[in-house]
Amino acid sequence: MLGLMQNWPLLIHKIIDHAASQHPDREVVSRSVEGPIHRIGYRDVRRRALRCASRLVKDGIKPGDRVATLAWNTWRHLESWYGITGMGAVYHTINPRLFPDQIAWIANHAGDRILMTDLTFVPLLEALADKLPTIERYVIFTDDAHMPPTKLKNAVSYESWIAEGDEDFRWAEVDENAAAGLCYTSGTTGNPKGVLYSHRSNVLHSMAMCSPDCLGLGARTTILPVVPLFHANSWSIAFSAPMSGAKLVMPGARLDGASVYELLESEQVTVTAGVPTVWMMLLQHMEKEGRRFSSLKRAVVGGSAAPRAMIETFESVYGVEIFHAWGMTEMSPVGSIGSIKPALGDLKGAALFDVKQKQGFAPFTVEMRIDDDEGNPKPWDGKTFGRLKVKGPAVAAGYFKGEGGNILDANGFFDTGDIATIDEHGFMQITDRAKDVIKSGGEWISSIDLENLAVAHPDVAEAAVIGVFHPKWDERPLLIVVPKEGRECTAKDILTFMEGRIAKWWLPDDVQVVKEIPHTATGKINKLKLREAFKIYRLPNT
Ligand code: AMP
Repeated sequence: MLGLMQNWPLLIHKIIDHAASQHPDREVVSRSVEGPIHRIGYRDVRRRALRCASRLVKDGIKPGDRVATLAWNTWRHLESWYGITGMGAVYHTINPRLFPDQIAWIANHAGDRILMTDLTFVPLLEALADKLPTIERYVIFTDDAHMPPTKLKNAVSYESWIAEGDEDFRWAEVDENAAAGLCYTSGTTGNPKGVLYSHRSNVLHSMAMCSPDCLGLGARTTILPVVPLFHANSWSIAFSAPMSGAKLVMPGARLDGASVYELLESEQVTVTAGVPTVWMMLLQHMEKEGRRFSSLKRAVVGGSAAPRAMIETFESVYGVEIFHAWGMTEMSPVGSIGSIKPALGDLKGAALFDVKQKQGFAPFTVEMRIDDDEGNPKPWDGKTFGRLKVKGPAVAAGYFKGEGGNILDANGFFDTGDIATIDEHGFMQITDRAKDVIKSGGEWISSIDLENLAVAHPDVAEAAVIGVFHPKWDERPLLIVVPKEGRECTAKDILTFMEGRIAKWWLPDDVQVVKEIPHTATGKINKLKLREAFKIYRLPNT
C-alpha cells in the first residue's frame, strides 16, 4: 500500500522559490569583482535567475546541456546556478586554479555550450579559446559599463544578456533525479573525472547540511562561504543558505586574511566555512594586527586535515567553535562533521581537542564503514585502520560518461581512497590517503598525524610528510617544513620537539626546511609534486 502524500519532486528551483517567498529581503552581500559591495535580497535573486533561465532557452540551451561557470563567489554566480538548473540544464563549475590545459580538457569532456565567467578570467580564456571548440558563447559576469573589449565568441555582459530574459519564465519541471551539476575531481592520477549531481542529491545533501550538528543554519544565521562555488559544490552553501533563509556573504575574488576579516566583521558573520590554508592566512593576519572577532561563532574547516594548533587557536584564543569536516567531490561533498555528542560528556582542554581533531561523525544521508582490503568490516574501536567506504543519496554511483567503470563494491559502497579509524562513538579520523600512508617495515605511519604535530611547533607555518625509500624498512617518513615569517627552524629543534609526543619509530628520519610547499588547485598539499621534487633525495645514512 502506498502512502497518500503529495508528490513534490526535490528540484533546486524549489529552494529559491522558498527563499523568495519566506525570506524575500534576506540579503546576499557580495564583494563584487568590480570592487564595491553589492546587496540583493532572495526575491530579486529569484527574479534574475528566472531571466537567466529564459535567456538560456533563447540561446538554444536544452535540458541536460552543460553550462560552465568559471567564477568567484558573487550573487551573479549564485543566480546562474538557479537559472541553469531552473531550465533543466547542468551547471559545470570549473576551478580557475587548474592548469589551462586541464581547464580545456574538462570543458571539452563536459561538452560545455556556454561559459559564464568573471572579468578576472577573460585574459585566461582569450588565451585558451582556440582549445574550447564546444563553447558557443561567453557570458561575462558584469555590466556593459565594465565590459572589456574582447574577441571571445559572442561575448556579452551578463547584465545586458539577462535584461533580454523573461521574469515570468516557468521553471522546468524535470525529474528530481535529472542531472543538475557537474564538478570534476582533482584527478591526481589519470584524467579528471566528472561527478554529476542530481536535483535530488543536492536538495537532500543541503537539507542535511542545515542541521545544527552540521553547518547549523537558520533564518538568523549569517554565513560567509570562503569555500568557492567551484570547489566541491561549495559544500552545499549555495543551496543550504537560501533554503534556511540565512544571510549569505560572498567574498568575491579577495580571499586574503585582511579581506576575509573585514567582511566577517562588517557583515557580522556568524558561520564561515573553508579550507585550512585560508584559515592559516586569516589567523596570521589577526595575530599580526591584534584583531578579535565580534560576531563569529562557528568555523567549519575541511578539505584537508585541520591542524590541532589551528583548532586550539580558534577555540581558546578567539572563542570560535571549530567544526572539523571531511568530504569529497564524490559526496556532494560533506561526509562527516565534528560536533560533540553528549555521550562524550563535558569535555575540556586537551580531551576536547583530541575529539575535535577527528573528522567527526556521519550525518543522516551518509552510511560509513571501514573495511580491510577484502571488504570485511573492521571494528569501530578508534584504533583499527581500514579503507573508508560510504553510501548515500548524495554519493556518486559512477562518473560522467562512465569514466572509471564501476566504482561501487559488492555492497554498493564507494571506496573513498582514504584510510581511517572510527571510534565507538562513531567519530571518524582520517589517517591518510591510501596512497600517502607511509609503509615502514610492514607497519603504517600516518603522514597526517606527523604533519599535525610538526605545525604545533611555534616556528613552523606548514608541514608535509612523504615516504622515501629506505633499504631496510622500505619507506621512512621525511618531514618537509616551511618556517613562519621571520622565524628559523632547524631539523634538530623540530625532531626534539616531536620526540616523546609520538611513537619513537614514527619519528621522521630527516627534516628539510623549504620556502614553499606546493598546493593543488583545491588548496591541498600536492604530495605528487613534493615526491617529484624529492625524487633524487636520499635519507641520511642510506
Ligand atoms: P576533493 O574531492 O578534492 O575535495 O578531495 C577529497 C579528499 O580530500 C578526501 O578524500 C580526503 O583525502 C581529503 N580531505 C577532505 N577533508 C579532509 C579532512 N578534514 N581531513 C583530512 N583529509 C580531508
